[in-house]
Amino acid sequence: MAEQVIRKVVIAGGGTAGWCVATALGKLLGPLLDITLVESAEIGIVGVGEATIPTIRSFHRNLGIDERDFMRNCQAGIKLGISFDNWSRIGDHYFHSFGFVGKSPWLAPFHHMWLHARSLGFGGDLQEYCLELLAGEAARFYAGPDGPLSYAYHFDTALYGPYLRRHAEAAGVRRIEGRINHVDQDAETGFVTAISLESGQRIEGDLFIDCTGFRGILIEQTLKTGYEDWDHWLANNSAWACQTELYGRLNPYTSAIAHSAGWRWEIPLQHRIGNGFVYSNNHMSDDEAHATFMTQLQAKVISEPIHIRFRTGRRKKIWNKNVIAFGLASGFIEPLESTNIHLMQICAVRLAQMFPFEGIREPLVQRFNTATAREVEKIRNFVIMHYKATERDDNDYWRARRDNPVPDDLALRMQLFRETGHLYQEEDEIFRIDSWLQVLPGQRVHAEGYHHAARLTSPDKLRASLDAMRANVAETLAKLPDYETFLRQYCAAEPAA
Ligand SMILES: Cc1cc2nc3c(=O)[nH]c(=O)nc-3n(C[C@H](O)[C@H](O)[C@H](O)COP(=O)(O)OP(=O)(O)OC[C@H]3O[C@@H](n4cnc5c(N)ncnc54)[C@H](O)[C@@H]3O)c2cc1C
Repeated sequence: MAEQVIRKVVIAGGGTAGWCVATALGKLLGPLLDITLVESAEIGIVGVGEATIPTIRSFHRNLGIDERDFMRNCQAGIKLGISFDNWSRIGDHYFHSFGFVGKSPWLAPFHHMWLHARSLGFGGDLQEYCLELLAGEAARFYAGPDGPLSYAYHFDTALYGPYLRRHAEAAGVRRIEGRINHVDQDAETGFVTAISLESGQRIEGDLFIDCTGFRGILIEQTLKTGYEDWDHWLANNSAWACQTELYGRLNPYTSAIAHSAGWRWEIPLQHRIGNGFVYSNNHMSDDEAHATFMTQLQAKVISEPIHIRFRTGRRKKIWNKNVIAFGLASGFIEPLESTNIHLMQICAVRLAQMFPFEGIREPLVQRFNTATAREVEKIRNFVIMHYKATERDDNDYWRARRDNPVPDDLALRMQLFRETGHLYQEEDEIFRIDSWLQVLPGQRVHAEGYHHAARLTSPDKLRASLDAMRANVAETLAKLPDYETFLRQYCAAEPAA
């Protein structure tokens, strides 16, 4: 039998990333490994990152995490998508939901049928074909085994780590409190052999997971892996964040409201709203951003605003020697479309699937790095598209977003849609055709051509089929309960401490 040489896993950092990896490895491979997580309460977590995409539900399901238990414990709310305001032009609004738009025949996606119908003068609005979009806008929701909706969550970031910690510790993960102040490396290979804490404690390991956030203590400060900057594509590099009381209707979506040098988010939870103001400090000073943010908040502020500077890009290698970086230690695409938690969870599962029991082999490392790099690039391009597809001309920030070059494959993809209506989802790509279909026209990029398959159907039949789809969506929508009523019955959290 092949010998197991990698058994001791040391996770440095206990933010969302640290506890996601700890829970995944503990639950999926626990008896085969000896897992230790080190975190420092004194340093704390970055304190943002509360919106997710639907893949979090399969992550939880595969790890045996009960939805209602999670929601109650993390003050979680539902996210059906993102409401965008002022993105293409000031005053514009659109919704990017997690749903499917219409029903596609095999030959060409649904929107080609719809585009043909529109050219004949019927077919209604594209939005009318998407249940999640309408349910989001109307704040209606239902979950359960027979629930019809594709959704994700908003949760309190200060509660999620400790919640996962309970699962991880139950699966055998050992937690050590302390501040890492030294990292030992093998003199010959450069592999990390141990981390030391201020207390003097030394923790040895075979495999180290760097979840120390922007610091990247192992992947960067120790291994000097290098960073690939994306600031020429994504200009935002700063954020202010704070919490406010709830106000008005409780919404099952994130709001992303563009301003003169970036955008602002609202993430409604059960007990409060998470707010953030993302901007480029080359176009707006930190003081001006703070002042503007404060005037735009819609409810009473209940936490001191925190300031965060970030660097958009990624580590040149996510896995380098015997260190793998997760979460902010691995890089950061700015928070628009909220994909960082997805990336750390998918990488945690990938690590469990590819775990190097018999030693760290270069082909394994390369496969892991390539698969992760591709996913990240696809997400990055989707995010860049929101800025490229703008008609805003009101200042240098927006003109540069519109006029700056974008990655070649993204430029081609946008041109392809504009000229032919064709959209596609590549392997390793998380955003489906339905996402591109909601965001591109939402940003005023419209298809000039389309596939002619719909001409094979008579206009009467096409009209009947599209009418039936819309009627079906409307009927299902009408049966959905009010979101807040549902949430309070389904998983009401205890009042916040
Ligand atoms: C403005 C902003 C908004 C974001 N919004 C979203 C979002 O909506 N959705 C999303 O998916 N992602 C979002 N992200 C990304 C998000 O922050 C991360 O996904 C998430 O919070 C995970 O962070 P982390 O665990 O990598 O780092 P951190 O939360 O910073 O955790 C780092 C951990 O390392 C520990 N540590 C650091 N140094 C030491 C040391 N010397 N010794 C011991 N321990 C140490 C810390 O104590 C902490 O436990 C956002 C990021 C930013 C900057």
